[in-house]
Amino acid sequence: MLPVRLRAALQQAVERRPRGYRGRFAPSPTGALHRGNLRTALLAWLDARLAGGELLLRIDDLDTPRNRPGAELAIQADLRWLGLDWDGPVLRQSTRRGLYASVLSALRRAGALYPCRCSRRMLADVSAPHGGMPVYPGFCRRRRVGWGPEAGRLPSWRLRLPEGPLRWQERLAAPGVLDGPEEVGDVVLRRADGFLAYHLVTAVDELSLGITDVLRGEDLWWSTGAQVAVMAALGMPPPRYGHLPLWRDAAGRRLSKREAGEGLAGLRQRGLDAAGVIGALAASAGLVPPGSRLSAAELLQELTPQRFADCLKAAAAPSPQA
Ligand code: GLU
Repeated sequence: MLPVRLRAALQQAVERRPRGYRGRFAPSPTGALHRGNLRTALLAWLDARLAGGELLLRIDDLDTPRNRPGAELAIQADLRWLGLDWDGPVLRQSTRRGLYASVLSALRRAGALYPCRCSRRMLADVSAPHGGMPVYPGFCRRRRVGWGPEAGRLPSWRLRLPEGPLRWQERLAAPGVLDGPEEVGDVVLRRADGFLAYHLVTAVDELSLGITDVLRGEDLWWSTGAQVAVMAALGMPPPRYGHLPLWRDAAGRRLSKREAGEGLAGLRQRGLDAAGVIGALAASAGLVPPGSRLSAAELLQELTPQRFADCLKAAAAPSPQA
């Protein structure tokens, strides 16, 4: 269904997976990295380095109205200050639009997409929120909807999800499984305003960049179903996922909004240096005792892949399904 060259490129990237670990840290340049993002970056870095693999830095900058000037440079500076490096050039989704557009048009030509005219406001009333995601009830799937402009508006394009479950491997919890039509629904891949949807570009990136392992926050667990659905529509298997639990304090409480939103600037103001921040981030994942001070390189030296995996599993809350 994909053009031959595109298919071969994706196939090749997926086939390189057994040759070595490749992870990614994929922040959106919408502001400074907050504590949760910093911890995800540290854990993704440790995971890649302990596996003797690579870590890519991907900047998810397609949602342009939310991008903040200077945020990308600040993200890079924060990572460097913490001693977290990455492999190869910084990858920006904004420079990869051609690839996403080719995939989108291949899916459209194959009949895997349909145009939808439902407005967000209308759907807010009727979409059944299932777990974390509202599920589209499929109105336009059954209607004949034109794809040209109507009253100055273009349709959005949705992926037609086949019957059956979507499955993926989870390292820190039970295997992921969501029913396609019931729990994920026909997700939008191109919005009516022309924006490419996060699920499309993320799925295409994981495949085309040969990502073997995705470590990210558990707030994205439900999104994984939609991303796996896109990969399935392209005939490709998903990478392995590890969804990290939200950061809790020593008493097991979720951090307040203010605490959770605090970035390096705030931590520095409270007198922490890089060793203090790495210590705090690592302690929150159970890797070192609270109050530890050490560099990222020292932390890496102290850990073995087995101990790291055990700590992550112990820190992981039960899967959001449970
Ligand atoms: N860029 C998004 C975020 O920062 C998604 C990241 C991901 O898929 O890991 O939340």
